[in-house]
Amino acid sequence: MDADIVVIGGGPVGMVAALYAARAGLSVVVLEPRPAPHDKACGEGLMPGALLALHDLGVDPPGRALRGIEYIDGRRSVSADFSGPAGRGVRRTALHQELRAALEIAEISVIPGTAAGVEQDADSVQVVISGSKQGLVCRYVLAADGLHSPTRRRLGLQAKAPSVRRYGLRQHFRVAPWNDCVEVYWAASAEAYVTPVAEDVVGVAVLTTRRGAFDEHLADFPHLAERLTGATPASDILGAGPLAQRVTSRVCGRILLVGDAGGYVDALTGEGLAVGFAQAEVAVQAVLLDRPAAYPRWAQKVTWRSTALTRGLLVATQPTWGRRVTLRAAVAMPGAFRAAVSVLARS
Ligand SMILES: Cc1cc2nc3c(=O)[nH]c(=O)nc-3n(C[C@H](O)[C@H](O)[C@H](O)COP(=O)(O)OP(=O)(O)OC[C@H]3O[C@@H](n4cnc5c(N)ncnc54)[C@H](O)[C@@H]3O)c2cc1C
Repeated sequence: MDADIVVIGGGPVGMVAALYAARAGLSVVVLEPRPAPHDKACGEGLMPGALLALHDLGVDPPGRALRGIEYIDGRRSVSADFSGPAGRGVRRTALHQELRAALEIAEISVIPGTAAGVEQDADSVQVVISGSKQGLVCRYVLAADGLHSPTRRRLGLQAKAPSVRRYGLRQHFRVAPWNDCVEVYWAASAEAYVTPVAEDVVGVAVLTTRRGAFDEHLADFPHLAERLTGATPASDILGAGPLAQRVTSRVCGRILLVGDAGGYVDALTGEGLAVGFAQAEVAVQAVLLDRPAAYPRWAQKVTWRSTALTRGLLVATQPTWGRRVTLRAAVAMPGAFRAAVSVLARS
């Protein structure tokens, strides 16, 4: 056996899973093809639950404190603070570096390589590594290989995705943040998220069903575009999608899918990392207790609230009129909006 656990994918969820595993006394290695640090299309808002999980593991990434969430549609705006501790806007590259440093301290090896297959029997799993004659043999695999998880596809766990396809694009701008909330701007068929990530940088992520250039999408948000006038871009444009990914199960024998690999609803509520970290923790518990079959139920238990909120909001805001009604309702019922934001804070 090379290790108790091989984590396929050294993104944030894979690395957090490895840290949980090491803390539980399990031997673990991470298989990841890309050199550090990784950048990725992301809104970069760490919800309070995600930040708490990182702190619990001794990881404290640099960034800008987030007080809450503000919805804006040009005419109206409504904000709600997180009920407990703050969240944090953190560049993905910074998050990656901090997690890699934590892995080093925990003496967890990151093996450069791509998983090209997984074969399992009753007691073990063999991970085939692309271009290498030698694979890795372990008791369990945690597949954290992202939104389009090759492991998920190989195992036949991919389910039919919804017909509405949404995509995300992001870019950073060098400008002093003007708000300590994540701002969500609503247009007819897209949303733009502004997350402060440093004293002089904000990230802008656009979620949309329409394919198009980042600047074209930004033009749908005149108030935001005005704010960004004269600000220099501080990163390349990155994209991701289609966002919605469904699975038939999050487990197949000794292989457990965690993070985006285990299915994804949407980036609408910015809770992907919090959800992924929570799944990573219960996946490690399932391995520790030799109860992989219990993992999907435990994962569901720790994430259903935020998943239900994201699903509900997605359905409600699909038609243009639904967007108007949602924002009006949030303005008219700030208590309900605060309750929704507190769900995100806990996730
Ligand atoms: C536009 C957008 C905005 C978002 N905004 C937010 C936000 O504000 N807050 C938030 O919490 N979440 C947000 N999310 C979601 C968040 O980005 C994801 O939930 C998160 O990145 C999931 O992490 P992960 O580790 O599961 O996957 P990833 O970060 O995708 O990492 C997967 C890793 O697996 C590796 N890999 C892939 N294939 C293989 C293979 N065959 N072998 C080995 N390794 C492999 C990849 O190289 C990668 O490093 C957003 C997403 C999008 C698209």
